[in-house]
Amino acid sequence: MYRTHNCGELRLGNEGQTVTLSGWVQKSRDLGGMTFIDLRDRYGITQLVFNMDENAELCEAARKLGREYVLRVNGSVKERSSKNPNRATGDIEIDVTALEVLNASDTPPFTIEDETDGGEELRMKYRYLDLRRTPVQNNIIFRSKLAIETRKYLAEAGFIEVETPVLIKSTPEGARDFVVPSRMNPGQFYALPQSPQTFKQILMVSGLDKYFQIVKCFRDEDLRADRQPEFTQIDCEMSFVTQDEVLDTFEGLTKNLFQRMLEVALPDFPRMSYDEAMENYGIDKPDLRFEMKFQNLNSLAKGKGFKVFDDAEAVIGICAKGIAADYSNKQMNELTDWVKRPQIGAKGLVYIKYNEDGSIKSSVGKFYSDEDLQSWGTAFGAEKGDVVFILSGELDKTRKQLGELRLELGRRLGLMKDGDFKPLWVVDFPLLEWDEDAERFHAMHHPFTSPKKSDVERMLNGDHETMKALRADAYDLVINGVEIGGGSIRIHDRALQERNFKLLGFTEEEAEDQFGFLMGAFEYGAPPHGGIAFGFDRLCAVLKGQNSIRDFIAFPKNNMGRDMMIDAPSKIDDTQLEELHLQSDVKED
Ligand code: ASP
Repeated sequence: MYRTHNCGELRLGNEGQTVTLSGWVQKSRDLGGMTFIDLRDRYGITQLVFNMDENAELCEAARKLGREYVLRVNGSVKERSSKNPNRATGDIEIDVTALEVLNASDTPPFTIEDETDGGEELRMKYRYLDLRRTPVQNNIIFRSKLAIETRKYLAEAGFIEVETPVLIKSTPEGARDFVVPSRMNPGQFYALPQSPQTFKQILMVSGLDKYFQIVKCFRDEDLRADRQPEFTQIDCEMSFVTQDEVLDTFEGLTKNLFQRMLEVALPDFPRMSYDEAMENYGIDKPDLRFEMKFQNLNSLAKGKGFKVFDDAEAVIGICAKGIAADYSNKQMNELTDWVKRPQIGAKGLVYIKYNEDGSIKSSVGKFYSDEDLQSWGTAFGAEKGDVVFILSGELDKTRKQLGELRLELGRRLGLMKDGDFKPLWVVDFPLLEWDEDAERFHAMHHPFTSPKKSDVERMLNGDHETMKALRADAYDLVINGVEIGGGSIRIHDRALQERNFKLLGFTEEEAEDQFGFLMGAFEYGAPPHGGIAFGFDRLCAVLKGQNSIRDFIAFPKNNMGRDMMIDAPSKIDDTQLEELHLQSDVKED
């Protein structure tokens, strides 16, 4: 037998018992007459003790053990004289009577402890060692529990899990596809799914009614810290539902997961329209852990001779509470430089300080009287001690820039608190987005999203301008400024789907070639349906208050999309290339 107990479970109550443990050497301390070893496994760490006086041979053997050696030991459980209150097993130690080295280990390239000295690349190369570290293991265990709780909840609610294929034809979710050459069909390629979108809709046509899948999706995008080329979604679809029913179901799932995983009871999620989000926060995924809403100052600030504002389409500001005393000229300059960085792109930053002594100091004081500036403060509900920051320019750009500034101030002022969760539904997204440069429409969500019922007629018969104003039954779940997921009620009617493809610039042939199967299915009694998908990796990270999804993926890829451990992607040999018809004439010497 390798073990009677694991390394995390022995307590004082086990005193006197003879036990067998197996695990890895975390650390060893040689104190001359005694050698102590910390033995680690997934469940914890137990101290082993070897005594020179009692068994010199065994103690000598223990001294030779290196870090990460794999051991099996026999011994008896003893009360420790100096206890370690920070460890669950800290009251006991094992007085070892037999030791077997199950495997030796080279010295690991970084320390395998909670805090490690290994850099990111090194840890990815030796991911199997990084995964031995408790915080990393905890994340993977957390993920496993989250998946199990998700399955339990959805199964209970009547959803069935269906596996959809991984070798498919491309689904346009807005990213590039990964493709796989077909050996048996020369010159033809499969695509890896960006999502199971069309399959889950087909399952509704088939009458499965409620589908879910915890599923890998693939998108060939340039990577950022929170993106991976392959990632996991909780993907769902329901028949005979309205938007409200979809939102209620997945609000229920989210609340349940927070309760089960964190013992946090979330209140009902507020719903905010896309327009409201853009107007008040400049972004469609507002972080509601703090207020700092936008205020439009067009009517108060224009027409007083300050050309920058007079020429601007929009003059908008935010109010930061109680920071006037802390924000000196130097800090104002620094913040101004921050908004002028190319990533933000503002031309300048106007501020008004409502000082504690009642005086007002502003970077535009030359152009406006104190009464003017006071009236702006009133619009914000500003009090003594507050500072108002204003940006101006073209409406969309200014909103975006001010949205970034709002988040930056939230970060600097410590307004985004760990353990504070502010979920909301953003609803009523536009159906289509006009791309000025390409002079064409893009689907704001994806091409299968339905316009609101009240907009169907206008979509079928309206002119170009009308199309820009169409609203969709599309929704996103946002928590703390992170988009957790999104979905929509779908088109289930062939004529409407054809119209949508046309608006998106597909020719009839292209639409038929790529999506003929779906439109065909719509002709055989497709039920009204809708669904949603949550980013599973992201949900893990948000629940744990972390930024990077990488920490929740057992084998993640780096910023170049590489798996550093197996060294992929890699070249394939000429025979393979030839078989796949990717290199028709292999050169013969
Ligand atoms: N397929 C969509 C996505 O991956 C989700 C959905 O519409 O259900 O974002």
